[in-house]
Amino acid sequence: MAKRAHNFYAGPATLPLPVLERAREEFLDFAGTGMSVLEISHRSKEYDSVHNEATALVKELMGLKDEYKVMWLQGGASTQFYMVPLNLQLPGKKAQYVNTGVWSKKAIKEGGFYSDVEVIASSEEDTFSYVPQGVQFDDDIAFAHITGNNTIYGTEMHYTPKVPSDVPLVCDMSSNIFDKVMDLNRFGVIYAGAQKNLGPAGVTLVIVREDLLGRVPDKTPSMQKWKTHSDKNSLFNTGPVFPIYMCKLSLDYLKEMGGVPAMEKHNREKSKILYDLIDGSGGFYKGHARADSRSLMNVTFNLATPELEAQCFQEGTAKGLIGLKGHRSVGGMRASIYNAMTMEGVKALAEFMEEFQSNNQ
Ligand SMILES: *Cc1c(COP(=O)(O)O)cnc(C)c1O
Repeated sequence: MAKRAHNFYAGPATLPLPVLERAREEFLDFAGTGMSVLEISHRSKEYDSVHNEATALVKELMGLKDEYKVMWLQGGASTQFYMVPLNLQLPGKKAQYVNTGVWSKKAIKEGGFYSDVEVIASSEEDTFSYVPQGVQFDDDIAFAHITGNNTIYGTEMHYTPKVPSDVPLVCDMSSNIFDKVMDLNRFGVIYAGAQKNLGPAGVTLVIVREDLLGRVPDKTPSMQKWKTHSDKNSLFNTGPVFPIYMCKLSLDYLKEMGGVPAMEKHNREKSKILYDLIDGSGGFYKGHARADSRSLMNVTFNLATPELEAQCFQEGTAKGLIGLKGHRSVGGMRASIYNAMTMEGVKALAEFMEEFQSNNQ
């Protein structure tokens, strides 16, 4: 058996072991072709079934109605930061954003290239330690934008804001897609870089309600229009076939384990172990996120001094607990426990944290 670390990296991140094993088994000879999936045409029938199954699994596992179009694009979530306003702009109308962290801020900046942007709620004054509650968007706006999970700060939006009926709600779900049951039919657009909660880096899942595809100005380069990709089933040009194949395997795995309801249960159990430990540590570990905004995916905390944090990180690394350093912009510690993180990994981390506390208190 290969040596496997407990991988708490924030992204790219751990993938389910059965998914990696299956990819390894099929690597040299995919679907009886005598070729790797890396070597065959993106228009071959063997790849075509992977592509279409991946798309169908997204719709099934998310419970999306027929009117939603699923696309597999390149350029990461960061490209969607400008494709969203480019494709959804309406002359004379502004877009409204909720600012809950570094990724929201980047989305807001790019949004400004295509329309007036208004930030209607923000937690920046409190180092993004919470997600504003009860956010209200105006009627006459082009779109409303939120970030589902704030990877760096360890906060998550645990409710879906209400929007006026003709305002599309747009969500960056890069770090929490498929983490919990939500009514996704309330969204106009959902996008997610795959490399945190779905698959490897190199592909971005973009889901757009069909009626929104026609808004883009005619004079827009083809590659920048969602409609181009939607009309061609994400095969307008050569797509990222290997990342899509890996996403398909991880969606198969999600379905086998019982879909999103089972995943939510798993995620709640895992995150509760760590939050209970932090709360019960008598202040040795201090959680960054306010209790009502705690993320199921990224658990962020500090210790008394940066030296103690460095020591905790080093000792954890020596025990095979990898990637626990907080993001450079906030410091401290962060355990990313995405969908693919096992209960075993979380228990190993909790055991280490208890031991570290008793040795260093
Ligand atoms: C990581 C991350 C991004 C950036 O994604 P790229 O695919 O690297 O562009 C955007 N939004 C959120 C919420 C993220 O966690």
